[in-house]
Amino acid sequence: MAVRITGIDETTLVMPSPNRNANLSFAAMTASAVVVRTDVMRNGRPLVGLGFDSIGRYGHGGLARERFMPRLLAASPEAYCDANGRLDPTRAFAVMMRDEKPGGHGDRAGAVGLLDSALWDLAAKLEDKPLWRLLSERFGSGDADPAVAVYASGGHYRDDQLASLKAEITRAIDLGHTLFKIKVAGAPLPEDLRRIECALALLGPKRKLAVDFNCALDADNAGSYLDKFAEYDLAWIEEPTDPLDYQLYAEICAGTAFAIATGENVFSLADARNLLRYGGLRRDRDLLQFDVSLCYGITELVRILEMAAQAGWARRRFAPHAGHLLSLNVVAGLGLGMHETAADPDSLFGGYPADMSVENGYVKMSDVPGIGIEAHPALSTVFADLLR
Ligand SMILES: [Mg+2]
Repeated sequence: MAVRITGIDETTLVMPSPNRNANLSFAAMTASAVVVRTDVMRNGRPLVGLGFDSIGRYGHGGLARERFMPRLLAASPEAYCDANGRLDPTRAFAVMMRDEKPGGHGDRAGAVGLLDSALWDLAAKLEDKPLWRLLSERFGSGDADPAVAVYASGGHYRDDQLASLKAEITRAIDLGHTLFKIKVAGAPLPEDLRRIECALALLGPKRKLAVDFNCALDADNAGSYLDKFAEYDLAWIEEPTDPLDYQLYAEICAGTAFAIATGENVFSLADARNLLRYGGLRRDRDLLQFDVSLCYGITELVRILEMAAQAGWARRRFAPHAGHLLSLNVVAGLGLGMHETAADPDSLFGGYPADMSVENGYVKMSDVPGIGIEAHPALSTVFADLLR
């Protein structure tokens, strides 16, 4: 018998942080948590799917409650299950996107991605498998590598000069990371160069540093900035300019040997196709960072991977933005290149489920069913409150 969705709850969490990057403060940041309830009983309780936003673009509760949750709740199980009664989130995606116009992929993509993540958590739990294994079986060879390359992402601007930067990098090294990313272009250039030199000194010759411009450069200053940064040995330059200025991306790529990373602010198959067509990105070195949750979820990301493969892009060139557990499962299950981890292991998105740890820049995936939210120290607390 097909599984039936019996209820969906969304809660918007307020997550103030002292962090800043080149274009925003996280002081008023919010994010959505969602619970999808079903009529399937496990251990005497209804089985639930849990989903969580990507952090950085605020919660998606308004759109989810107005349009996408009602469509799922009104649909019959046959609309989102396959012929065997198995939950199929790609069919649920079609239910959610009914009567939606093409184009305009903004916050709608994040609202659908939020619900999509809970549906995939549910699909994996129904089969009593970790999500990464389910994804490997449905979209790949089924023999996913449980060891995933990861890097630590932090280095936000704070009011304490270099103190928090030094503490973050030292802790990441102690945790087993070999690659660290910091924010740049949110301070005058001399201060940024001091931050880079401080980070490189702490990381030493065996580890790498990447920098994230958070879209701060424009046609007038990109050349001079990147010439200055060329003096350093950096793993990549992230989002130097506006995510939709493909012409400037093409000029930057043509003018630098640096690896360029971008895509975290591009939210659809159509926009990803344009980025690859016109952005001048190089298949031998650049990184694609489409955020699975902000990109309508796994259903759309798989379509992006198929489009990119036709354009000659290897899956290992994908290093999704976000640092959340959903993304980690996607990297492992779909054979992508690298997972971004929030540098602070005590934050809501930082760290890993209790049975996982970083070793020499890699983590070994857990066998906890679903996304693994119940096994994550901070996220499990959030959902324990929601499910009480
Ligand atoms: Mg970034």
